[in-house]
Amino acid sequence: MKSGPLNLILFGPPGAGKGTQAKQLIEKYGIPQISTGEIMREAISSGSELGKKVQSFVQSGGLVPDKLVLDIFQSRLDKPDCVKGFILDGFPRTIPQAQGLEEILLSRKSTITGVLAVMVPDEDLIKRLTGRRICKNPACGASYHVDFSPSKKNGFCDQCNGELYQRKDDSFEVISNRLKVYHDQTSPLIEHYEGKKILYKVDGSGKIEVIFQKLCDIINGLTH
Ligand code: AMP
Repeated sequence: MKSGPLNLILFGPPGAGKGTQAKQLIEKYGIPQISTGEIMREAISSGSELGKKVQSFVQSGGLVPDKLVLDIFQSRLDKPDCVKGFILDGFPRTIPQAQGLEEILLSRKSTITGVLAVMVPDEDLIKRLTGRRICKNPACGASYHVDFSPSKKNGFCDQCNGELYQRKDDSFEVISNRLKVYHDQTSPLIEHYEGKKILYKVDGSGKIEVIFQKLCDIINGLTH
């Protein structure tokens, strides 16, 4: 068994199911999910200074500047629940962010254990994102789909009864921009991590449980 923290990146385009998988992985491996997107949405809805700074970027589907994202990540990493590792969801999204991440970890004598890339074709992503509904309760954040995995409680979360909502950036226009940004700025990270021999690709088109099992098999291979 390899010792040291389990520092994972869950990589993939918007709508690949990273958040859904991360929520199950944190249960199994006892490490927190760090979703920069969730941190930003919470900041926007609380009206904080950070929220005001990031709002226009998030609403247009563009990327928040690298320096700000790295600062957000660093303060999250300082929290004690990250000592055993973390699952990054939606970060890093650019090469400079990946380099900044490596520097931050190096300064703590740590490194990335593995990058799990969940691959889904664009046409499926558009269908998934336009039908996505999310639980408003930040402690839950469960994700549903109006056709593929609807909630049984009509507009409310099956797990915690929280109200379901549609993210503003899940509209068709903003999704098109988010996918363009992914292909232009984020997908080069695949090659970046392939070069470091820490990239593991998983087909993200199948059933949630099947994808989860594939991710667990990879993670178990990394830790044994
Ligand atoms: P997500 O929830 O990961 O889809 O992120 C939602 C939005 O938050 C993105 O479209 C960006 O505007 C912003 N965002 C989240 N993470 C990052 C990041 N690592 N770099 C830049 N912008 C980000």
